Amino acid sequence: MREHEWKGWLKGLQELSPRQRQAVLAQLHIPDEGQQVLMQIESGGASGRCCPHCASERLVRNGQANDLQRYKCQACGRTFNALTGTPLARLRLRHKWHAQTRVLDEGLTVHEAAERLNVARSTAFRWRHRFLRAAHQVKSAKLSGIAEADETFILRSNKGQKVTGRKPRRRGGHSRTRGTGDDHVPVLVARDRSGGSTDFILHRCSKKEILTSLTPVLATDAVLCTDGSSAMASAAAQLGIEHHALVGTTGKRVRGPWHIQNVNAYHSRLKDWIRRFRGIATTYLSHYLGWFRAVDRHAPQHIDPVNLLDLALGRIAHH
Ligand SMILES: [Zn+2]
Repeated sequence: MREHEWKGWLKGLQELSPRQRQAVLAQLHIPDEGQQVLMQIESGGASGRCCPHCASERLVRNGQANDLQRYKCQACGRTFNALTGTPLARLRLRHKWHAQTRVLDEGLTVHEAAERLNVARSTAFRWRHRFLRAAHQVKSAKLSGIAEADETFILRSNKGQKVTGRKPRRRGGHSRTRGTGDDHVPVLVARDRSGGSTDFILHRCSKKEILTSLTPVLATDAVLCTDGSSAMASAAAQLGIEHHALVGTTGKRVRGPWHIQNVNAYHSRLKDWIRRFRGIATTYLSHYLGWFRAVDRHAPQHIDPVNLLDLALGRIAHH
């Protein structure tokens, strides 16, 4: 670019709208981010890697394909790279993957994501679901000390699916009945005071389903706080653990350390985040719940995109 053109170009930058500015920044970041993502994908090298087809560790390097190291398995003879077998296999435009994790963190709609990343809407949609997929594995295996459990209700949506025999609701709409019935999916959330968190999608909030969910995750000496609904109370009785029923019996929401405010605050953060997507398909609810569990653990700080990409790659399991 000639000197006078350059000066004009530079001056023009001042007139950019915020969106144009974002686009310029995105362009300038291309080589850099591509390299960063690539390094992250390849990190670990051949050691500790095993064949995604047969799990053998007898591997040899086998050239490069699409900028990624290719390996050949000496046991089954098949080739693969660091992305094979992950939800992100065969996706393109890797230099935008860190930005894509931010999109999910912020809760952009598919339309907004397509604009931000400068990709087709179909790509933004595909990326959203691929990036969310691995996150449902991230759960606390055990809750200990004081644990709070309470259910919340997420609006059911058949968005993105063929609907038969049921009139689809306008996306992100409100149902007439609140909290119960077919319009909502019950989600049981349980948390302990050290930040451990887990959740379960239920068919209904019955004692049986609550027991099935909580039995494996509650330490035997845990103390359970709930809203005191009859299903919760009888589940707790059967679990044989100390139980404090709030709201239901006394109408008092806090009795010293006994309350369910952590879990209720979590509910409202979760719903705020889900709302931003303007309707999420119930089929993928477990994926969204998983992503949120992971990011909320670090709130109010945002997790580094590098960690979010590890999450999407399925490299973060339990915590
Ligand atoms: Zn193999």
